[in-house]
Amino acid sequence: MSKVLIIGAGGVGSVVAHKCAQLPNIFSDILLASRTKSKCDKIAAEIGGNKIKTAQVDADNVPELVKLIQSFNPKLVINVALPYQDLTIMDACLETGTNYLDTANYEPKEVAKFEYSWQWAYQEKFKKAGLMALLGCGFDPGVTNIFTKHAATNHFDEIHYLDIVDCNAGSHGKAFATNFNPEINIREITQKGKFWENGHWIEIEPMSVHQSVDYPNVGPKESYLLFHEELESLVKNFPTLKRARFWMTFGQQYLTHLEVLQNVGMTSISPIKFNGIDIVPLEFLKAVLPDPGSLGENYTGQTSIGCQIKGIKDGKEQTYFIWNNCHHADCYKEVKAQGVSYTTGVPAMIGAKMMLEGKWMKPGVYNTEEFDSKPFLDDLNKYGLPWHEKVGATLDFEY
Ligand code: NDP
Repeated sequence: MSKVLIIGAGGVGSVVAHKCAQLPNIFSDILLASRTKSKCDKIAAEIGGNKIKTAQVDADNVPELVKLIQSFNPKLVINVALPYQDLTIMDACLETGTNYLDTANYEPKEVAKFEYSWQWAYQEKFKKAGLMALLGCGFDPGVTNIFTKHAATNHFDEIHYLDIVDCNAGSHGKAFATNFNPEINIREITQKGKFWENGHWIEIEPMSVHQSVDYPNVGPKESYLLFHEELESLVKNFPTLKRARFWMTFGQQYLTHLEVLQNVGMTSISPIKFNGIDIVPLEFLKAVLPDPGSLGENYTGQTSIGCQIKGIKDGKEQTYFIWNNCHHADCYKEVKAQGVSYTTGVPAMIGAKMMLEGKWMKPGVYNTEEFDSKPFLDDLNKYGLPWHEKVGATLDFEY
């Protein structure tokens, strides 16, 4: 029985709030806080039964966060606001003696660059304070790290090749929309791609490498090589990896819109003067695009995300594939969300549960693959994201 503070009331925050409210024995008191309180109130009303309290907070402001945390006194803060707020929320957690969890690593607003260095630098501070910070506990990062840990522990002596394959074969019926925060999403896919090979990062031009990947229950889809943050912690925690890559599907319509928006300068993060005021084109674009939290109704199709791994077991080559399929319509029926918010929010809730139950609780700053994968994967089956595995699988990639 613990108090938990959820910060961020977007698509993911709504799923986390719904899922935590379903487990009152673990999450006995829930406070949902965000920049716009009316969004928290709407989610609380949807959940009903006075299960969720709400508050307004500017998570860029440490003293404001500290005041809110002290007034509620939670055991854990679940940060599902934006990556820009990771460090301020971690600072406020340290100041108030509160544990921390997030789903995306820190990114400075002025530079489209995400990496763990800023948050890993908090290791000693959290250790000294006897507090834990769990980083990147969504699906990818999050579950993909745990899938890799499960594979390395149970099916390999050494893992050598990892390909994370992420497909959204859904249709929301809009001409152009992103499935999570548009600003963060577009910053992620318009930067250079990067993968790990033989001890080095290799950079490629954005979206320049692609191939067809056969996804379970979906079929073949063109998939693009991107840099994704879990690669950074996985190559550190699994040093036997010779190569690690991340692939994501994009439809042609999405890519065409993105190309036009890039060509006309709408994805830029450098401020421009408009009618005498500074505006950032990408922030303005976010304001006119559909809210990812609103895409759930009538969303058809499913997501399919998994890890393809090749390595050695008992002196012989071994191949392995582990994945989850998630139907958008099922998510909407259960918690009024689309699949991308759902596949992020459910793991965040389970990570919080692991910490509060003491199954994953030790002072310091950690990524999800640094813990026992079993209790988490048991809960993943139980709380809405069943997974499947194939040992000796035929993989799409040449190794
Ligand atoms: P949304 O844009 O829908 O929601 C973000 C929420 O954060 C909004 O409620 C917003 O408030 C709030 N917020 C933004 N800035 C502040 C601030 N300064 N103070 C307080 N609240 C603030 O995003 P999503 O729900 O789609 O994504 C949430 C997080 O999940 C992101 O960090 C994203 O990167 C991560 N994510 C992780 C994935 C994974 O698999 N690991 C996959 C998908 C997303 P307001 O409404 O006022 O704008």
